[in-house]
Amino acid sequence: MRIITDSRCADYAYPGHPERPARVTRSVQLLRRQSSLPIIWDEPLPVDREILLRAHTAEHLDRLESQLDFDMDTPAYPDIAGHARRSVGGALRALKSAQSREQSFALLRPPGHHATRDRAMGFCYLGNVAIAALEARAAGVDKVAVFDFDVHHGNGTEAILLDQPGCAFFSIHQFPAYPGTGRRHQRNCHNYPVAPGLSREDYRKVAEQALEELRLFKPELIAVSAGFDAYSGDPLCQQLLEHEDFHWFGRVLREMAVPMFSVLEGGYSDQLPELILAYLQGIAGLPLDVASSGPAIEEEPATSAGDRELELPWWQAF
Ligand SMILES: [Zn+2]
Repeated sequence: MRIITDSRCADYAYPGHPERPARVTRSVQLLRRQSSLPIIWDEPLPVDREILLRAHTAEHLDRLESQLDFDMDTPAYPDIAGHARRSVGGALRALKSAQSREQSFALLRPPGHHATRDRAMGFCYLGNVAIAALEARAAGVDKVAVFDFDVHHGNGTEAILLDQPGCAFFSIHQFPAYPGTGRRHQRNCHNYPVAPGLSREDYRKVAEQALEELRLFKPELIAVSAGFDAYSGDPLCQQLLEHEDFHWFGRVLREMAVPMFSVLEGGYSDQLPELILAYLQGIAGLPLDVASSGPAIEEEPATSAGDRELELPWWQAF
């Protein structure tokens, strides 16, 4: 398993924001400490503006360089453009691994699946997975499927890939929930909304249906938006999945026997490192074993409070 990360992705934070550096730093620590899954560590590839322009407007890329907040949960952190580009570079490195039939996971922040062509939103600035899917198409892959099991609808991926030849999007997500889209299919974008509090068994049934339709598309490559916020202990939504279910996601994707790569999206509980490990063990064909990795690491102390307070964040509204 190739894990792509960069320690600089922990260099920005906003007090009280759920999309925090410890999501990645604690996950890296756990993956370094465990011994069940052999890992090759790697870094993001550099990213040309031309690659970004396949998915985003020039105005959006220029605005990313400015210090203007996009919305209250997607602030303009110092050098957010650099952080966002490295996240894209992680997805591109993961794509390269898939092309040589190696499993890979881009473990970086910020996430990407809410970023639309011209707008950063929902903690996302650039559409990491969508950009990688378009890069795969440009490199000659005829059919690329994006599978998104983050609990939120990947509205940005959908907006970028809608009607793109050779691309199809399959998303399972809670509805109603942020961002309020993804209620029904749209041409090459297939949406599987689930009600809050769905049983694990029924959640898997919906996921199986999504994966069956993905299979019918006959992709040559699967890009996975791997979000871990459908976990029962996640603070942002109301689903009930457990470690076993994320291991199952990894296993069923592996069984498709199609080149694939995965990119971290959401997941805001303290169990995120263990949930990622469970998923990666599933992808690698290993049994679920997150207990042998030792006790959980203490959360890092919060960064000192900034000079502005977070106003009523949407993630407390659902
Ligand atoms: Zn999410």
